[in-house]
Amino acid sequence: MSTNRTFTMIKPDAVKNGHIGAILEKITAAGFKIVAMKYTQLSLRDAQEFYGVHRERPFFGELVEFMTSGTIVAAILEKENAVEDFRALIGATNPADAAEGTIRKMFANSIGENAVHGSDSDENAAIEGSFHFSGREIY
Ligand code: ATP
Ligand code: MG
Repeated sequence: MSTNRTFTMIKPDAVKNGHIGAILEKITAAGFKIVAMKYTQLSLRDAQEFYGVHRERPFFGELVEFMTSGTIVAAILEKENAVEDFRALIGATNPADAAEGTIRKMFANSIGENAVHGSDSDENAAIEGSFHFSGREIY
């Protein structure tokens, strides 16, 4: 996968609160092109694998429970400097610390339920993108 791609999920809180359209609008207005997208729900096994790096963290159980609690939107996004620029667009993990105008500041309520996911490296963007999409689903 190209290094100008990142992977995102609109998390169950933002879906339940009706923010899919507004978040996609922010993403595309910031210059990201959607090259793959699906509306889906993570199984327990999916969430445990996807967030496997956090397995030993105290919040792991809560995180998995939340991420499987409802539907999500998963997408691969393309833009120059995608990973870093997307992390800037979503803001800090804890919405209380997120800058004004960021997606988490606008749409998230807590550190646990923080509206969106964004890959933290090119390597993880590729791993996470192929976790959710086959080559035939990426355009
Ligand atoms: P994400 O990977 O979802 O984009 P992030 O990279 O900003 O978020 P990580 O450190 O990777 O943050 O944590 C993954 C997710 O775990 C966070 O988005 C959040 O939902 C949850 N999380 C992180 N820290 C805490 C915490 N202290 N308490 C509860 N949940 C947490
Ligand atoms: Mg992360």
